[in-house]
Amino acid sequence: MTAKRVAIIGAGPSGLAQLRAFQSAQDNGEEIPEVVCYEKQSNWGGLWNYTWRTGLDKDGEPVHCSMYRYLWSNGPKEGLEFADYSFDEHFGKEIASYPPREVLFDYIEGRVKKAGVRDWIRFNHLIRDVKYDEASSKFTVTARDTANDSESSEEFDHVIVATGHFSIPNVPEYPGFDKFNGRILHAHDFRDAREFQGKDILIMGASYSAEDIGSQCWKYGCKSIVSCYRSAPMGFDWPDNWDEVPALVKVEGKTAHFKDGTTRDVDAILLCTGYRHHFPFLPDDLRLKTANRLASDDLYKGVAWVHNPKMFYLGMQDQWFTFNMFDAQAWWVRDAIMDKIELPDRATMEADWKARQAEEDKNETDPDCIQYQGDYIKELVAETDYPSFDVQAACQAFFEWKKHKKENIMTFRDHGYVSPLTGKKAPTHHTPWKDALDDSMKAYLQT
Ligand SMILES: Cc1cc2nc3c(=O)[nH]c(=O)nc-3n(C[C@H](O)[C@H](O)[C@H](O)COP(=O)(O)OP(=O)(O)OC[C@H]3O[C@@H](n4cnc5c(N)ncnc54)[C@H](O)[C@@H]3O)c2cc1C
Repeated sequence: MTAKRVAIIGAGPSGLAQLRAFQSAQDNGEEIPEVVCYEKQSNWGGLWNYTWRTGLDKDGEPVHCSMYRYLWSNGPKEGLEFADYSFDEHFGKEIASYPPREVLFDYIEGRVKKAGVRDWIRFNHLIRDVKYDEASSKFTVTARDTANDSESSEEFDHVIVATGHFSIPNVPEYPGFDKFNGRILHAHDFRDAREFQGKDILIMGASYSAEDIGSQCWKYGCKSIVSCYRSAPMGFDWPDNWDEVPALVKVEGKTAHFKDGTTRDVDAILLCTGYRHHFPFLPDDLRLKTANRLASDDLYKGVAWVHNPKMFYLGMQDQWFTFNMFDAQAWWVRDAIMDKIELPDRATMEADWKARQAEEDKNETDPDCIQYQGDYIKELVAETDYPSFDVQAACQAFFEWKKHKKENIMTFRDHGYVSPLTGKKAPTHHTPWKDALDDSMKAYLQT
């Protein structure tokens, strides 16, 4: 019997988790399917693979990266630690709880280098089309090799979509934007906070991007920030030069008008207005359409596409947990593909995601949501051989993180948390976050 063929689309943290899951089964002496991972960029790491580019990449495709210079982890590393690869193992010493991007990229890369799965990835391969044929029960996957400017198609028994959902911006339109005398940019195109040194800026939005990009601009010397929200304010105790006001109504010249009747003159407008799930390579019958929530539409166990469960999605939920949740999902998907987990009938799978959403809707607070996602990870981990780890300790790190942010939004990154793997509390970083202007790995790891 010929081995099944599995296509993974994307080599970010989710796609890499899937490669590691298959490799670990192989390591255990199991016969695994033939795995091909397609990645449109020339390197792995997904959003963590930084580029200065914005707009289109060298091949004329949308730049994937939404990360920026000086980005430090926005949650404690203890909440995302891989259960099979601790930070201590990677760095050979204990490090503080909020590593900058380059440090986390190194950690992500360390595990897959050790696993030896780079050869399973076809870099510079952009997936353009996926089709399913009922008669043959196969998917045809069409990729463009952007390095050689050629296109080819191959057949697979399973497709796993791991292309992320924080790359294609959601861009609103407001009266006066077209005549604004300054720069308007979406968070996706933000790269260097120093661009806004000495400037008055308007940040639109009230989620992670708004909070973090505003904090970056504050740290690197912008003159003032006004941030506006549509439903609820972020509500932190902001520095003196940062005000939070209700929604923008219009812009006239350089003047922003808000719903509460106040106005502010600003030099730049930063749209921290979120991202869209976007799969231009998928036909209607395979394409996930969901809001950014903890229980996605149409995914059994959060991963199996209920309309055709030979297809899977990884990491499509809103994320408190990231790397370890992608792992839990990847191990589960591997076992479903390798027939170690049996999928139920369609009606049961439909009932599953609806029940998950009903449970999600009962959450009232952020800690409720954290616990909800932690419980989801526990559920998946219990069904595979992913190394069991103290998920509740990871939840605890997030609970404390929320508390520390409330106490002081500009110092929360100076705290340390207990690792769910080693049980040890992270050391304090050598420099408070607001004074640490050099975010390089060298500067971060020095003692
Ligand atoms: C600004 C920002 C800051 C963040 N900060 C943190 C943080 O501090 N901590 C944290 O844990 N998480 C953070 N995240 C969350 C982030 O979503 C996850 O950490 C993680 O990167 C998601 O991994 P992924 O593999 O699902 O998706 P991605 O990282 O988006 O990777 C998807 C991959 O798919 C590839 N791809 C896309 N389309 C195609 C195609 N058609 N063909 C082939 N390849 C394709 C892309 O090139 C990319 O490599 C942040 C996100 C953003 C946007």
